Amino acid sequence: EAVVNRIAAGEIIHRPANALKELIENSLDARSTSIQVFVKDGGLKLLQIQDNGHGIKVEDMKIVCERFTTSKLRSFDDLSSMSTYGFRGEALASISHVAHVTITSKTQDSNCAYKASFSDGKVVPAKPGGPAEPKPCAGNNGTQITASGAEDLFFNVPTRRRALRSPTEEYNRILDVVNKYAIHNAGVAFTCRKAGSTTPDVNTAPMASVLDNIRQIYGSAVVNELLLLEETLPKYSLKIKAYISNANFNVKKFAFLLFINHRSVDSPSIRKAIENVYAAYLPKNSHPWVYMSLEMEPRNVDVNVHPTKREVHFMHEDEIVGEICDAIQRRLGDANT
Ligand code: ADP
Ligand code: MG
Repeated sequence: EAVVNRIAAGEIIHRPANALKELIENSLDARSTSIQVFVKDGGLKLLQIQDNGHGIKVEDMKIVCERFTTSKLRSFDDLSSMSTYGFRGEALASISHVAHVTITSKTQDSNCAYKASFSDGKVVPAKPGGPAEPKPCAGNNGTQITASGAEDLFFNVPTRRRALRSPTEEYNRILDVVNKYAIHNAGVAFTCRKAGSTTPDVNTAPMASVLDNIRQIYGSAVVNELLLLEETLPKYSLKIKAYISNANFNVKKFAFLLFINHRSVDSPSIRKAIENVYAAYLPKNSHPWVYMSLEMEPRNVDVNVHPTKREVHFMHEDEIVGEICDAIQRRLGDANT
């Protein structure tokens, strides 16, 4: 059974950055306003996240790492109206199959925190032969989750791919995930720090705006070139909020930070369409910088995609992509006159 689970888990979590995305989304679901990430060897040795969210009740603690355990889905109808990130109840289970997981959590109405370690979905007794129970301990409100291992984490990936793992590349992917969520979640202070360094690589302020966060991460040079685009399209129950680079500014690689209903995703159709609009303005081999947040009816978005596939599809996709292009075109046109 352990082998089957490991294979299933490996399909979901095969890189530290995928695990971290799930952990960050859980912290956001728990309404955290502070999320701190700590990483060793690109997350291949250790990945830790500390939040100040609503915490995990001691009676739930024992089962949080079991498959299909979620506190976010109360009935089947909820599926179509989910507003939280997770609902599959698989992320922690998957991570606990590829790493040693330790959770310390305190809810506001508990006098103390509880701590438990997990392996293959189950609580590991603190002492051999002891009870497999969370143990009371000191701690602040919120949750700390550590994924660590003696061997490299995510060890179940095929050897041929594992051989290529570079801590630097994995860390860059982690930074990419933290940067995106830090920018989008104005009001949540994010830090990301790697072992051996005292200064964090990401450090956003608690009461910042999206633009403040972009400045913090990408610098003023980018912020000064951005145009705000805000539109509501009642026909598709769609809200667009974007910061798009003006027609005189370009970057070497298309920076496309897309959120649909606050989830960091990719949409090849939107991506391609935006590149096409800008191609009329920008020199060859240069690209725009775009942050875009779309809000639409949750039931119109295909949320049931595989967790490693960031690609999403939605209802009226062609029409909506067309509307987005028109809006960008108008905004670039206005700015030029
Ligand atoms: P899902 O997010 O799909 O429910 P997960 O495996 O990601 O499944 O998490 C399982 C459960 O663990 C969540 O439903 C939630 O109750 C709890 N949980 C996980 N992380 C946190 C956190 N940072 N704060 C509070 N509760 C959490
Ligand atoms: Mg989750």
